[in-house]
Amino acid sequence: MTTEQVAAPINAWQVAQRQFDLAAEMLNLDPGLRRVLREPRRELTVHFPVHMDDGNVQVFTGFRVQHNLGRGPAKGGIRYHQDVTLDEVKALAMWMTWKCAVVGIPYGGGKGGVIVDPKKLSKKELEGLSRRFFTEISVLIGPERDIPAPDVNTTPQIMAWFMDTYSMHQGYTVPGVVTGKPISLGGSEGRNEATARGCVFTVVKAAAHLGIDLKSATVAVQGYGNAGSIAAQLMAAEGSTVVAVSDSTGGIRNMAGLDPDKVLAWKKEHGTVQGFPGAEDISNAELLETPCDVLIPAAYENQITARNAMDIKARIVAEAANGPTTPEADEILYQRGVFMIPDILCNAGGVTVSYFEWVQDLNRDHWTEKEVNAKLKVIMDQAFAEVLAQSQKHGVNMRTGAYLNAVQRVADATAMRGLYP
Ligand code: NAD
Repeated sequence: MTTEQVAAPINAWQVAQRQFDLAAEMLNLDPGLRRVLREPRRELTVHFPVHMDDGNVQVFTGFRVQHNLGRGPAKGGIRYHQDVTLDEVKALAMWMTWKCAVVGIPYGGGKGGVIVDPKKLSKKELEGLSRRFFTEISVLIGPERDIPAPDVNTTPQIMAWFMDTYSMHQGYTVPGVVTGKPISLGGSEGRNEATARGCVFTVVKAAAHLGIDLKSATVAVQGYGNAGSIAAQLMAAEGSTVVAVSDSTGGIRNMAGLDPDKVLAWKKEHGTVQGFPGAEDISNAELLETPCDVLIPAAYENQITARNAMDIKARIVAEAANGPTTPEADEILYQRGVFMIPDILCNAGGVTVSYFEWVQDLNRDHWTEKEVNAKLKVIMDQAFAEVLAQSQKHGVNMRTGAYLNAVQRVADATAMRGLYP
C-alpha cells in the first residue's frame, strides 16, 4: 500500500507543487526562479457578511489567489463550493499560470473561491453573496490586473453581477473585468461551450495520433455540468457513443449508448442523472472504471489516484476538470499506455475564449461564433502539437510535456523582466 492510499485526503496544492518540481528539475531551472515560481504571488482571504432571507446575517469566507503575473494580468475562475480551501485555490491558480502559457495567451494565473453550497441559497442571497465577495476582492481585480471567470457552480448570471458591482464602483461600465458574461453584456459567442469544445479538439488530435476512429469509439464522462455535459454532446457529434455519465449524486450507464441531450433534460427535471430510463445506475467509482475508449473527468480534483489507476480501462483520458489525476496515478497510467491529455492543455479552451471575450470587450467588438471556434481550433491544435512534440522529444508523458513548455515560457518571461527592485 502506498502512502497516498493511507493518507487521504490528497492536497491539491502539494500535487501542483510536485508537478512543477518535476518540470523545474528537468528544465534545470535556476534555483532562485524555482523558489519564485513555486509559490503564489498573492493570497487574499476575506470574511464577509451577507443578509439572509430569514433576517439573519451570515459570514462567509472566500479567497482570491494570484500565482504569477509575469506574462500578463491574472486570469482564472471563481468557484462556489462547500469544500473550497485556500490550498485548493492556490493549486488552481498555479495551474492557470501554466495553462495560459501552454496555449500562449498573455495572462498570468489566478483563481478564487467561496466556501458555500450555492444550492442552499435563494437567488437574492446568491446575488448578495456574489456582489459583496466581488467588492471584497476588488483590491486585486481589474481589467488590466486580474480578470475572473466562471468555474464550478458559478454562472453567466453571477459574472453579470460581478461586472455590475465593479462597474458601479467605477462609475462606468467595465465589461473587461470578468469573462463568461451573458452575450447581452459583452460575453463572447462560444464561451459557454469553449471548455468542452477545446477538450474535444484535443481528443480528436489524440485519437488521430493513436489511430482510434472516434466514430466507433465509446466515451464515459464524470461530472455533468458545463464542461462535462457539453463535452458529451460534442463527442456524440463526432460520432462517438457516450456510454456512461455521472454527477455528484452518482452515475448512469448504457453500453448501447446514452443520448446526451436527453440526459441533460432529465438532469434539469430531476436534479440528477440517475434514474434515466434505459440506463443502469452506477457509482462514480464504477463510472471511472467503465470500459471505454475515452474517459473525460469533468468534475473535481483527485478522482484518479493510485487506488483506481490500475482499473481505468480507457485508452485516452481527457482532463476537462482541473487536477483530476494525482502524480502517482499519472505514472501508473503512463506505464499502462493510457494516453493522458492533461488539464492545462485539455481544458484550456475555456480560458482561451475568455481571452477572446476580453479582447472583444477592450475593443468594443463582437465576433461571430464561427470566428471564435475557428480561432480556438487554431490555438488548441497548435498547443496539442507542441506538447506532443515535447513529450516525444523527452520520452515523457503529455503532462510533463505540457509542463516543460509552460514552465519554460513563464520562467523566460519572469527572468527577462528581472527581479524588482
Ligand atoms: P459545473 O458546476 O458546471 O459542473 C460540475 C459537475 O460535477 C456537476 O454536474 C456536479 O454534479 C458534478 N460533480 C460534483 N461532484 C462530483 C463527484 N464527486 N463525482 C461526479 N460528479 C461530480 O462545473 P464546470 O464549470 O463544468 O467545472 C467542472 C471542472 O471543469 C472543474 O474541475 C473546473 O475547474 C473545470 N474547468 C471548468 C472550466 C469552465 O469554463 N467552466 C474551464 C476549465 C476547467
